[in-house]
Amino acid sequence: MEDARPPQLSFQELLPPMTPHEATVEANRCLYCYDAPCLHACPTHIDIPTFIRKIATGNVSGAAHTILESNFLGGTCARVCPVQELCEGACVYNAHDKPIQIGRLQRFATDHLHARGEAPFTPAPPTGRRVAVVGSGPAGLSASAELAKQGHAVTLYEKRELGGGLSTYGIIVLREPVEVALREVDAVRDLGVQVVTGQELNSPAGLDELLAANDAVVLSVGLGAVPALGIPGEAHILSGLDVIEASKLERPTGVGTRAVVIGAGNTAIDAATIARRAGADTTMVYRRTEREMTAYHHEYLFALSEGIGFSFLTQPVEVLHENGQVTGLRCVRMGLGAPDTSGRARPEPIPGSDFVIPCDTVISAIGQEKPALAVTLGLDLDQGYIRVDDELRTSLPRVYAGGDCIRARGNASTVMAVQDGKLIAASLARILGTQAAPIAPTRPPEVRDHPLYQAAHGAVPHAEAQHG
Ligand SMILES: Cc1cc2nc3c(=O)[nH]c(=O)nc-3n(C[C@H](O)[C@H](O)[C@H](O)COP(=O)(O)OP(=O)(O)OC[C@H]3O[C@@H](n4cnc5c(N)ncnc54)[C@H](O)[C@@H]3O)c2cc1C
Ligand code: SF4
Repeated sequence: MEDARPPQLSFQELLPPMTPHEATVEANRCLYCYDAPCLHACPTHIDIPTFIRKIATGNVSGAAHTILESNFLGGTCARVCPVQELCEGACVYNAHDKPIQIGRLQRFATDHLHARGEAPFTPAPPTGRRVAVVGSGPAGLSASAELAKQGHAVTLYEKRELGGGLSTYGIIVLREPVEVALREVDAVRDLGVQVVTGQELNSPAGLDELLAANDAVVLSVGLGAVPALGIPGEAHILSGLDVIEASKLERPTGVGTRAVVIGAGNTAIDAATIARRAGADTTMVYRRTEREMTAYHHEYLFALSEGIGFSFLTQPVEVLHENGQVTGLRCVRMGLGAPDTSGRARPEPIPGSDFVIPCDTVISAIGQEKPALAVTLGLDLDQGYIRVDDELRTSLPRVYAGGDCIRARGNASTVMAVQDGKLIAASLARILGTQAAPIAPTRPPEVRDHPLYQAAHGAVPHAEAQHG
């Protein structure tokens, strides 16, 4: 299959940045809804009407400040959030017209601030309290930034060479270039956080050392590698995470001319996109049907538009290979039986239905392993994830956790990890006697007093006016 796109465009960010004119026009469409549904739909509760209003009036740095106050990783989230399911999905315009392009406006504002080299925050005076954060993905960066803003001395430990977690290593460049993730690590450093890379917490003794030197420890270690499939020839399967990482760091991906990707979640679609953009004829295999796949519908449509094929009701049973080279993936056809514990129809193999998909590359992207460190440290678990209470405290005193490693329920996403970081910082503020950033914002007078806002909502209610 031929890729019609010029090769140099294959791994660039998919959506172009907005021009200042486009941003102003788009911002002026906003109705500044009272009790704006987008604000509630955003897990970090960014005051979206306020930041959009600031863009409309030319105060783009102020808009970025509003975003980053609620979400220190506003630049990443602007690119990776499933906005169709969150803020843009809640926009009142959905009923009649196109929703406001909140994600792209957010990117416009945060990129503007970055281009001007402006630091949005200064830390409070030192409190003399110390916190260690383990893992520098979105949860760890968000917790570190919020704690540093309160004046605590924060050390952020990361086992890999680069900070940023999956934003740096896992999210395809089409959505987020590495430099955007790394600039958020730099922004945390600029707040005085000491970022120590190449340092892994891997034992209870290591945790004891951190607890002896700090007032609290935050675990934001994410999840593990792609789990094994347990089929013959497994050693010849590439990990979807490795393929994506190689593409992000501009290393060879190891993808040949005909690739099969196992899985049907968002990560599987990302891995298939990389294979496709690397020039491979690419098919995704999934043991259930289109209806049960876990990828967002817009991601599925994107994969189809990329020319990726799908083989549903297909279960891989063996990787075929000769002289170390993959030659095909043996699969069996599945039928759907009674619902299983997940409530979805259970796929069952159809006897004698074996067939082979000829290919030279097999990639597995069936999710990530649960956090192994949790077991090593003797933490209480919830379905294999770290168990936390409402304050994000683990079962060990002075140890907190957030992000993917606690996500026993609901979809794991960057914006949820960022909110966990804020919640941890707010919990710690109560113990360390400091003032945390508010978790939910209020509407400032510049929005409340705007004629459009008043025309849409009439008089400002008393409760709202009190906050201003
Ligand atoms: C391929 C892929 C694509 C995705 N795409 C999207 C998307 O488009 N939109 C979206 O919202 N979400 C997406 N996600 C999910 C999102 O990336 C995660 O929800 C988010 O990164 C979780 O943040 P985190 O901080 O909990 O963990 P992570 O980002 O995984 O970061 C954990 C960090 O901890 C470090 N670490 C682990 N153990 C240790 C240790 N013992 N000592 C020191 N450091 C340690 C790791 O090296 C890593 O840097 C995607 C995930 C994947 C896998
Ligand atoms: S952080 Fe994500 S959900 Fe929240 S407003 Fe921005 S793009 Fe929307």
